Amino acid sequence: MDSVSVSFDSSPDSIARPRHDWTRPEAETLYDLPFPDLLFQAQTIHRRHFDPNRVETASLLSIKTGGCPEDCGYCAQSAHYDAGVKATKLMDRDAVLETARRAKEAGAGRFCMAAAWRHPKDRDLDRVCDMIGAVKALGMETCATLGMLTPEQARRLQQAGLDFYNHNVDTSPEFYGKIITTRTMQDRIDTLAHAREAGLKVCCGGIIGMGEQVGDRLGMLLLLANLPAHPESVPINLWNEVRAVPVNDTAERPDPIALVRMIAVARIMMPKSVVRLSAGRQYMTDELQALCFVAGANSIFIGDLLLTTKNPQTVRDAALLDRLGMTSPLDGAKAPATSLI
Ligand code: SF4
Repeated sequence: MDSVSVSFDSSPDSIARPRHDWTRPEAETLYDLPFPDLLFQAQTIHRRHFDPNRVETASLLSIKTGGCPEDCGYCAQSAHYDAGVKATKLMDRDAVLETARRAKEAGAGRFCMAAAWRHPKDRDLDRVCDMIGAVKALGMETCATLGMLTPEQARRLQQAGLDFYNHNVDTSPEFYGKIITTRTMQDRIDTLAHAREAGLKVCCGGIIGMGEQVGDRLGMLLLLANLPAHPESVPINLWNEVRAVPVNDTAERPDPIALVRMIAVARIMMPKSVVRLSAGRQYMTDELQALCFVAGANSIFIGDLLLTTKNPQTVRDAALLDRLGMTSPLDGAKAPATSLI
C-alpha cells in the first residue's frame, strides 16, 4: 500500500458535505484497504445517510428496442451488431402504463423507461412526455433513458413529471474509446449537465467486466464523484453475455471480491448516492449480493428482464431480502405471476 492516507472526518458537518475533489491515489488507497477495514468504512458512511437494512426497487422497461445507431460495444440493441434483437417501434402509452401498474403491484417504487436512441426526436419526446405523466399519476417515481438530450428536451421532460434521467458514462475516460466511438464522453457529460440544469435528478453509472482494469473502474468512480453534484443514483452493471458484440473479445467476469470493493469505494466517495446493483445480478450468488448490500449497495432492479438481458426473479429477490432480514418495497407486494415486461 502506498503512503497516501484517506481521512474520514465523521463530524456531522463533514458528512453533510460530500467531496468532489477525490484523487486517484485516494481512490486506490481505499480500494486496497484490508477488506474488513474497507467494509467497515463503507458501512459507517452508509449508516449515516441511509437505513442500512433497506433496499429500494426499480423496474426497467424498454419502450423502444433495438436499431440504435450508436456503437456501444456491449449492447445487443446497437444496429452495428447482429445480436439477434429485433428493432421495435416506440410502445403505446397504454401498454407502458399497464406494465408500470404491474411493476408497482410487484413492489417497484420507480419505473424506468428506456429507448434505444442516439437522441429523441421531438415528436417522440411528445409521446414519452405523455407516458411520463401517466406513470407519475400512478404514484411512482419516474426515470427515463433516451440518449443525448438538448437543454430544451431536458426541460420538457422535467415539466412532464420526470424525476430521474439515466445517462451512464459506462467506464473510465481512458477506456471509453475502446467501447464506444459514435459519441464522446464529453457528449455524455453535457447531457448530464443539461439534465441537472433542468432540475432532474441524475442516474449515472457504468459497466464492469468489459476488459477494463481496476484502474478504469476507479477512474469511472472518480469521474462520477468529482462531478459538480454526485448522481443521486449510481447503477453498477456487470457485463452480460451478449452474442456478436465486440466486448465479447475482451470481456472477463470480475472477481466477486473486486466487485464488492468497488461498491464500497463508490459508497465512500458518493456517500449520499443510492448505489444500484443493476444488470448482471443473475450471475451473482446470494452471498455476493449480501456482501454488496453490506458494502453500501441499496437498490436493485426487479422484474425478470432488463431490456434484453435476464434478471433474477422477483420471488428470489424477496426471499433473499427476507433471509437477510432486510426490507424493501417488495414486502407485502403481490409477486407477479408472469414477467413484468
Ligand atoms: S447502450 Fe444505448 S446508446 Fe448504446 S447502442 Fe445500446 S441502446 Fe444505443
